[in-house]
Amino acid sequence: MKKTALSLALIAALGLTACSQTNTLQTENNSVQVQQNFANFSEQFIHDYWKQFPEHSAWAGYGKYDDIISIPNQAYRDSTLAFANAKLNELAQFDLDSLPTAQKTDYYLIENALKRTIWHSETFKSWQWNPSNYNVSGGFATILNSRFKTDHEKFATVLKRLQYVPAYYDAAKANIDNPTLEYTQLAIGQNKGAFSVLKDELLTQVEASNLSSNDKALFVKRFNAAKDAINGYIDFLTELEKSLVENGNARSFRIGEKLYEEKFALDIQSGYSAKEMYHKAVADKDRVTAEMVKITDELWPKYFPNTERPSKDRDAVAKLIKHLSVKHVARDEFVPEIKRQIPDLEAFVREKDLITLDPEKPLVVRETPEYMRGFAGASISAPGPYDKKENTYYNVTPLDNMSDEQAESYLREYNHWILQILNIHEAIPGHYTQLVYSNESPSLIKSIFANGAMIEGWAVYTERMMLEEGYGDFEPEMWLMYYKWNLRVICNTILDYAIQVKGISKEEGLDLLMNGAFQEKAEAEGKWRRATLSQVQLTSYYSGYREIYDFRESLKAAQGDDFNLKAFHEQFLSYGSTPVKYVKALMTDK
Ligand code: ZN
Ligand code: ZN
Repeated sequence: MKKTALSLALIAALGLTACSQTNTLQTENNSVQVQQNFANFSEQFIHDYWKQFPEHSAWAGYGKYDDIISIPNQAYRDSTLAFANAKLNELAQFDLDSLPTAQKTDYYLIENALKRTIWHSETFKSWQWNPSNYNVSGGFATILNSRFKTDHEKFATVLKRLQYVPAYYDAAKANIDNPTLEYTQLAIGQNKGAFSVLKDELLTQVEASNLSSNDKALFVKRFNAAKDAINGYIDFLTELEKSLVENGNARSFRIGEKLYEEKFALDIQSGYSAKEMYHKAVADKDRVTAEMVKITDELWPKYFPNTERPSKDRDAVAKLIKHLSVKHVARDEFVPEIKRQIPDLEAFVREKDLITLDPEKPLVVRETPEYMRGFAGASISAPGPYDKKENTYYNVTPLDNMSDEQAESYLREYNHWILQILNIHEAIPGHYTQLVYSNESPSLIKSIFANGAMIEGWAVYTERMMLEEGYGDFEPEMWLMYYKWNLRVICNTILDYAIQVKGISKEEGLDLLMNGAFQEKAEAEGKWRRATLSQVQLTSYYSGYREIYDFRESLKAAQGDDFNLKAFHEQFLSYGSTPVKYVKALMTDK
């Protein structure tokens, strides 16, 4: 009896073991199958996504739908909603737990993109109140500036796209309902700007091209109809602007707390709410300002031995910053100096063992090509999702087209210290380094739906990290300039929330920037304008930075002596340009 019982128990135990082995095998087989299924789903998803959003696909360099402009009417919104809901249903059939890390993050990114699409269409509805949503010129410019198309291909594609322009603007006019004055004015200006792309010179080029004579004639016809349509939209908006101004009943550009929180969640994908982030920024502003005052007190006798320190802290800090800013390179040394600094930054990162830099992928610094000029003085140009073979460049625009006065003001802004911080941010170990890591875990989903807050947050994080590790030898001047630079990022977050949610006046906004963040009037005015024409975007730098920094500090506290900065950096970057909250979950789950 006992024996039998034992045998039975044994058999049961063996059976159980055998059974659980089968289960493990089955699970493994299943999860391989699930992974394969998810990979197939992702691939199909991308193709379908581009088909649904041809404009995005042209921008990403996909190529297949360059000749289409979708008409933004109700039928299109309906089809977009149907698309998003169908894909969400397909997505929900995957068991998240059976997906490996890389696919889990892809899952989250796809899910967010789809929910965001639905939210924009049904809740935010800026297609009704933001007339600057409608402008065909961006798509035409992308095609005409492409370096991968022959002139013939470009003109043939433009010819096809042109046919949609009249219907496009008809739909736009039908959509507009109670717009904001600011977006109405922006749309008028930007649509007038469309003629710098669809310019008459284009007709001359087409005339000289090898398009057939039928196509040439058709081109002229469609080009003129497109011009009429754009002018018709501008006239429509100009009338609208007049009545908005006369009646004073335009919709407010402030979106309020509910929409702001929702947009923040979808755009930033932060682990914090917008309100929490705002309060963090306010606390950081006080902390950073106090540090700046402390440094100013320390440095004052060195630079102003015979001048009394102004009694107001703000005036003293501003005076010292202004005094220090005259230390800068000569205008024709701007590009060479940046090139010179890169090896120093690389050497510092290696010496301090901060992160492994791939020697196979050196950074190429170049003068910004003409067709890209006109924006920032320095930028990283990374290959798009479909042109991985392209180099990555650090573009620096020489100050050739500036007057002496403009150049001087620019060089004071990018003075001796700030220029180094800029290089950390853009290049090593900022954007460029992040990009190299991101490309090592290639996922089309991650490069198409890359999280801006993570990307900018990383670059901002590295500025502080480098200084903490001793870059610049703890020179107080360097820290003072860093804090000024950082304060701008902090104040952008405060300003955006304060305008959109708390409803502060323009005077209060300018005061925050000029008296709170040591900005010049022109810069502050520009920032105010930008804050009336966007929501949430201004917070992305600070949000990403704060979240990365807080995460690092919490790991440090938890791991004590076991914390390794280099290991943290490398693991953090290994997930691609994924929202920090997911990286955080993936890094702490184990
Ligand atoms: Zn100077
Ligand atoms: Zn950046």
